[in-house]
Amino acid sequence: MHGASRIKEVVIINSIPPDLLSEPARAFAGRSHGLLIGGASVPAADGRKFTTPDPSTARPIAEVPLSGPEDVDRAVRAAHAALKKSAWATMPPAERGRLIGRLADLVEANADELAELESLDGGKPVKLAKIVDVTGAVGALRYAAGWPTKIIGDVVPQSIPGAFSYTRKEPVGVCGQIIPWNFPLLMAVWKIGPALAAGCTSVLKPAEQTPLTALRLGELALEAGLPEGVLNVLTGDGSTGAAIVDHDGVDKVAFTGSTEVGRGIAGRAGHALKRVTLELGGKSANIIMPDADIAAATKGSFQAIYYNTGQACIAGSRLFVHRDHFDDVVGALAERASTARVGPGLDPKTQLGPVVSAEQYKRVTGYIEQGKAEGAELVAGGGRGGQEGNGWFVEPTLFTATSDDLTMAREEIFGPVLVAQPYEDLGEVTRKANATEYGLAAGVWTRDVATAHKVAHQLEAGAVYVNGWGRMDPAAPFGGVKASGLGREHGREGLEAYLETKTIWIDVA
Ligand code: ADP
Repeated sequence: MHGASRIKEVVIINSIPPDLLSEPARAFAGRSHGLLIGGASVPAADGRKFTTPDPSTARPIAEVPLSGPEDVDRAVRAAHAALKKSAWATMPPAERGRLIGRLADLVEANADELAELESLDGGKPVKLAKIVDVTGAVGALRYAAGWPTKIIGDVVPQSIPGAFSYTRKEPVGVCGQIIPWNFPLLMAVWKIGPALAAGCTSVLKPAEQTPLTALRLGELALEAGLPEGVLNVLTGDGSTGAAIVDHDGVDKVAFTGSTEVGRGIAGRAGHALKRVTLELGGKSANIIMPDADIAAATKGSFQAIYYNTGQACIAGSRLFVHRDHFDDVVGALAERASTARVGPGLDPKTQLGPVVSAEQYKRVTGYIEQGKAEGAELVAGGGRGGQEGNGWFVEPTLFTATSDDLTMAREEIFGPVLVAQPYEDLGEVTRKANATEYGLAAGVWTRDVATAHKVAHQLEAGAVYVNGWGRMDPAAPFGGVKASGLGREHGREGLEAYLETKTIWIDVA
């Protein structure tokens, strides 16, 4: 890494048994951390820092700089300079693709370290961090690496005699990319992949709860040979994010996070007429039809909600089961929930890690208490899964309800809490499934192909999963309708969000 860090002391890693963390991960977490601005590792201009804790123990892991407006300004300037000076935007496409591909190779080569850092910082099971987060990040970067050589305009068939016109696809410019804590490395890559492929430069801000893997990704980007300033990484909180959104030099904002914050960002970016894409919250309905393969549907529905301890925007948090199978499905889910292993992410036996922060713990347990108070029946979980200490553990929790009116059935919890409801007919269940402000994902389990298509078409969501849940591919568009977002990530649409179309007219008369 270029540039000397002036941050002096290092805290850390006081609580992790040595055999749970490999030397590279321990060394990185225990190192002094700087912001990545213009290819240099630097402290925050005003010297402020914050601590990122281990969700399994609530003890500090590392201190990172807290970026203020001055740092945002420096990073945006560096990103602008990189557009021009390094000619990132006008670099031969094959070369841009090669560098992104090289970054994919480096992420792959450092997969164990990245998975361990992700698990340490966010609490997720390390095995899943490797096979889902890191592997997904490598795939997304390889996909992005293929795009630069395939970005083409059109020759436009217009009707004016003596005129010729064509379109060029040009990068939007400097992108402010703000990401959440639930899939930190993966979200970072989902953001930077298409931006870099399009020839944009980025100011990336990881969430304050999970800053480590984005910092490591920034280092790997330099090692891959990305020119200085093409990728800048600013650790910080909501105030840092707000300063990025509001900076005049940011041409496009890409945000993944809560609907509440996203709404505010949309307003400010809209006023400034910046390009904006938003991937926001969800309250996804998961429907088990009477003809479904009940065993597969039960297993899949368990994963749909409890994967990543329920901290997924696509979590299938509202389960509708036909009344003929309701008791069986609820019983089987409760059985699975009560035997799932809750524990620290770095413990290889853990199936559900802790929730990410004290704030999330309070929020999730608050919803559980409110659910009980509002009359929902607690069928499984609700406690700490036998875990002692200060970690933020919540066991997989299952409620049944007959009323549509429960707060926990309407609001996004972002934790391991499922509400199951019985239904009688298709019209009733699709109406209930769509009766939400959100529209990110939905699912249906059925053996009948006609029912599958019919229900998939009726559900108001950006993605519908049939007989499965949570499939993702960098080629398949991802995003929400209604209050779940604006625009799509992945695929051609995801790339287009980082491109402007210029029409060029030539008089040939
Ligand atoms: P959560 O409530 O799950 O933490 P947030 O939407 O608050 O989700 O946070 C998602 C990301 O947005 C984080 O990186 C956070 O720092 C950032 N953020 C929070 N508030 C703002 C804001 N007002 N403007 C821009 N970014 C913000």
